[in-house]
Amino acid sequence: MVKRIVVLGAGISGVGAAVLAKKKGFEVFVSDKGKITEDNKKVLLNNEIDWEENNHTFDKILNADEVIKSPGIPDSFKLIQNLKNAKTPLISEVEFAFRYTKAKIAAITGSNGKTTTSLLLGHVLKNAGYDVLVAGNVGVSFALSIAERDYDYIVLELSSFQLDGIKNFRSDVAILLNITPDHLDRYDYRLENYSASKFKITENQQEQDFLVYNADDEIVKEIKTKAKKLPISFINKQKEGGFLNKNELIIKLNNNTMTMQELALQGKHNIFNSMAAAMAARVFEVKDSVIRQSMIDFQNVEHRLEYVLTVHGIDFINDSKATNVNACWFALESMTKGVVWIVGGVDKGNDYSELAEMVDEKVKAIICLGENNQNIIDAFKDKVDTIVQASTMSEAVNQSYSLANKGETVLLSPACASFDLFANYEDRGVQFKKSARTL
Ligand code: ADP
Repeated sequence: MVKRIVVLGAGISGVGAAVLAKKKGFEVFVSDKGKITEDNKKVLLNNEIDWEENNHTFDKILNADEVIKSPGIPDSFKLIQNLKNAKTPLISEVEFAFRYTKAKIAAITGSNGKTTTSLLLGHVLKNAGYDVLVAGNVGVSFALSIAERDYDYIVLELSSFQLDGIKNFRSDVAILLNITPDHLDRYDYRLENYSASKFKITENQQEQDFLVYNADDEIVKEIKTKAKKLPISFINKQKEGGFLNKNELIIKLNNNTMTMQELALQGKHNIFNSMAAAMAARVFEVKDSVIRQSMIDFQNVEHRLEYVLTVHGIDFINDSKATNVNACWFALESMTKGVVWIVGGVDKGNDYSELAEMVDEKVKAIICLGENNQNIIDAFKDKVDTIVQASTMSEAVNQSYSLANKGETVLLSPACASFDLFANYEDRGVQFKKSARTL
């Protein structure tokens, strides 16, 4: 009998999973509690996949042999509880797509730096002439890509929610960048639950696999694995792994020692991301010269410490993707000039005290751009003389321009999510750039 697969959530990953399932001969039904975009409906229609929107019809879902759940749907939903009670296997798009690829896989997770490191590693492998797919949380469906064709190498950016839905997924190289509090609302406000889901990245790895990890991170360094460990550290030299030696970055694997000096990406965090990507590329046997060159010619990703323009000697930098305190710390850390800082948005329970020292040292004025600015004002009123509030991006940019002097930097690094005043972080970054360009 043909197996019935139900896909819950018709976003990029859900629709991708549905197309792959259909192609593999399953009976497929897609159900979304919200509206499905016209583009996604077209894909479903073209592939003759049955779907519903604005509703979950339990009868059409509970009869599934297997359910592929979008990472956005929390386990606490009644429907998910019902499926669990019925012992229906619940998996993620990543787990499903994994069944249909023979590619060598690098899987990347962490609280910050996933997209940058994934794109950077993809860039190195492409420069090496490999047949590469970069997919996952970067916004490209792993399943949809595999439905079209298989690849030799796949670089996958994985969020903790995507990792929650894996069972047998295994990568040849796993990278765990860092763990700082984020999305705790989905993990009963327990950091250990969130860490456990990040640790799943190595859960199915075997002795012949590799785990590249942040040996300076208090939580990450405790990770247990069967894979061969390749630590990356700014503090300690490593027998095998990545570390700093004066101005050189050293990447050691087996008997090979590779050095890098020049990087396209700025900021301490990006040195780390670059070392992690280089380490993974070494595991995949990319030549040193290709890795070195790729680190130099990589183009920075939009909304991540993205240089926008200079107006009358004032630099404008868009770091709209900094949606938590840790990402923002690294943005401030990388600033070399006086900063007028645009911050705020939806605060997910931020502890701003972690930024106190950095703000004291680098920030001369703060512009709060969010619905609830009081936490920010309370945290920094003794550190910064000028704190003002804005209710639109163009107001914030105009204020920043009048507060900054020649030779200083206006930095948008919100430390918060964007859903109060903007559609998403991309919209926030685009509005920042547009406003800065009209000055
Ligand atoms: P993610 O995909 O994990 O959200 P991104 O590469 O999109 O990560 O970067 C998100 C934000 O975090 C950006 O503001 C960026 O400057 C910052 N960031 C990037 N790498 C790191 C890192 N290793 N540690 C801390 N912050 C980082």
